[in-house]
Amino acid sequence: MDVLVLGAGVIGLTTAYYLNAGGHRVTIVDRHPEVALETSYANGAQLSYSYVAPLAGPGILSKIPGWLTRSDSPMRFHPSLDPDLWRWCLQFVRACTRQQNVRSTRYLLQLSFLSRALMHKLVDDEPSLDFNYVRSGKLVLHRDANAFASAVGLLEFQRTLGCEQQALDHEACVQIEPALKAVRNQIAGGIYTASEDTADCYRFCVSLEKVLRERGVVFELATDVSALKHAPGGRVEAWAGTRRLPGEQIVVALGCASAKLLKTVGVGVPVYPLKGYSLTIPVRSCGIAPVISVTDFARKVVYARLGERMRVAGMADIAGYSRALNGHRLATLRREAEAVFPEAGDYSAADEWVGLRPATPRGLPVIGPTPIRNLWLNVGQGALGFTLATGCAQLLGDLITQRPTAIDCTMFSLGGRS
Ligand SMILES: Cc1cc2nc3c(=O)[nH]c(=O)nc-3n(C[C@H](O)[C@H](O)[C@H](O)COP(=O)(O)OP(=O)(O)OC[C@H]3O[C@@H](n4cnc5c(N)ncnc54)[C@H](O)[C@@H]3O)c2cc1C
Repeated sequence: MDVLVLGAGVIGLTTAYYLNAGGHRVTIVDRHPEVALETSYANGAQLSYSYVAPLAGPGILSKIPGWLTRSDSPMRFHPSLDPDLWRWCLQFVRACTRQQNVRSTRYLLQLSFLSRALMHKLVDDEPSLDFNYVRSGKLVLHRDANAFASAVGLLEFQRTLGCEQQALDHEACVQIEPALKAVRNQIAGGIYTASEDTADCYRFCVSLEKVLRERGVVFELATDVSALKHAPGGRVEAWAGTRRLPGEQIVVALGCASAKLLKTVGVGVPVYPLKGYSLTIPVRSCGIAPVISVTDFARKVVYARLGERMRVAGMADIAGYSRALNGHRLATLRREAEAVFPEAGDYSAADEWVGLRPATPRGLPVIGPTPIRNLWLNVGQGALGFTLATGCAQLLGDLITQRPTAIDCTMFSLGGRS
């Protein structure tokens, strides 16, 4: 089959990989002259397979007022008149039940474990991929004794779901990651997960593009998909200005831009941007930078070592589609990082970045068919797009090819979300 993939971020590229491996002829389109220049560019670099619980949960609603009133809080809300924003918020609030949170977490863990197995296979199968991939392990740091106690309480439950994790006291945290010595006295404890990985998402995408080009995948870059139009036989066509793009089957993997384009052909997906920031800091040769991946639980900031660089990422601002850099938010992120890893590197030389997470209210991606017979979705991976990319892509490839899927996809389908 000829398949047109719209979007050359990490989701579109991995989709193209599994479709190509399944014997399909694939064309991939993106509006930028290079791949992965939007949300897949400088994310938190976490392949965080055991930490997939959605943001929507019973504990979150009571925290929101505090987060919304403090300008240095991990989450900010900038209200607007956009009806899509209010619809998304309403669905988010409805998803904040324990029952929904547990159900979504179970499905996401199945998807993330599949993604981990596929990522490991991909790394073995494609030795030319060069993307600072390290099986680093992750330490989630708790500063508050109550928060640590409830994280320890969750370990048993997590184990029943297949996560192997260890609780560490503050001394053991510093032993496992000596770069944490500056905050030694602020640590209540940590949860260590050996099976987590870190890697550079942008370099992954660029390496994968090379592999795909060698296998005959056609790239149409600098091509803005301007419209989807209904066509005879209950199908749609994708257009770039006056040119119809090739492809019998069309996959939408446009990240945050997906919802608006899909709406024009009557397909509604609950994807809305959650704006986040990152800093990429050159590590000093004599510096003390972390080697394992670290998450500062209370501050919601993640740290990953990418060779001679350290990536710091965090913040979730509900602020529409603007990609404007907010100096105040970046300064907060930088202050947090300098306090935890003061000797890691040259903070004055940090690269600053902003990205829009394509978030769904329940935290579940949307993978599968639409009511339009040749239109498919791989969207809404939110804060986990790099982590879940391989699993989502393989599932969609199998659905298009009409092969059995590795896990049940009902929960991720457009119709299976009630
Ligand atoms: C601060 C931050 C930290 C994050 N940290 C992590 C992390 O540690 N681990 C993790 O797993 N995930 C993380 N994420 C999430 C992850 O980066 C995203 O889920 C993922 O990159 C989404 O990929 P995508 O391909 O769907 O979207 P994108 O990468 O945005 O790709 C969509 C592509 O579609 C193209 N496009 C859009 N509209 C059009 C059009 N009309 N015509 C043609 N092309 C178009 C864009 O140019 C873009 O290249 C983070 C995100 C942020 C913002």
